[in-house]
Amino acid sequence: MGIEAAITAEGFATTQLTKVMNWSRRSSLWPMPFATACCGIELMATASSRYDLARFGAEVMRFSPRQSDLLIVAGRVAIKMMPVLQRIYQQMTEPRWVISMGACASTGGVFDTYATVQGVDQFIPVDVYVPGCPPRPEQLIEGVMAIQRHIDEEGLPPVGGKRVPLNISVAPTHEVAPQPIGVSLGAS
Ligand code: SF4
Repeated sequence: MGIEAAITAEGFATTQLTKVMNWSRRSSLWPMPFATACCGIELMATASSRYDLARFGAEVMRFSPRQSDLLIVAGRVAIKMMPVLQRIYQQMTEPRWVISMGACASTGGVFDTYATVQGVDQFIPVDVYVPGCPPRPEQLIEGVMAIQRHIDEEGLPPVGGKRVPLNISVAPTHEVAPQPIGVSLGAS
């Protein structure tokens, strides 16, 4: 990781145990993807080589809630599906975090109907809201980094008591830019 180059064979480094624990915890978030619609495609793109969620230690998508600590709700959730989402959330390990990705998960989006949940935060605590329809991968990564920053600063949540959601809303930070490789047709 580069630290071995800075420290000689006989050297040593000192730090605080809590700092090491927070660093290791924030660097090993294991997402539980709950992708129900088009936002799920952007979630897949976030884990792909172009955006490389592995840089943040969060690429190990688990499809087992007991092995996950970061629930990413990507897409609209139907009323009939909500008990399943709640069960998955309840089965996840503590401390656990929740990202609501996209307009549909956060508000129901354009699906203002009796059959669609108008915001999953009515049923489970949401820590980070990622806006967009769909959000770009950079925005989802910003949401993951918001949780990482919180873990860095706050460390472990208090044991027991009521779960208090972080209520962080991510603002778009990505400037639209052309693709890195230009395409031209014919001779110039
Ligand atoms: S927010 Fe937009 S992209 Fe995401 S699930 Fe809803 S309609 Fe699809």
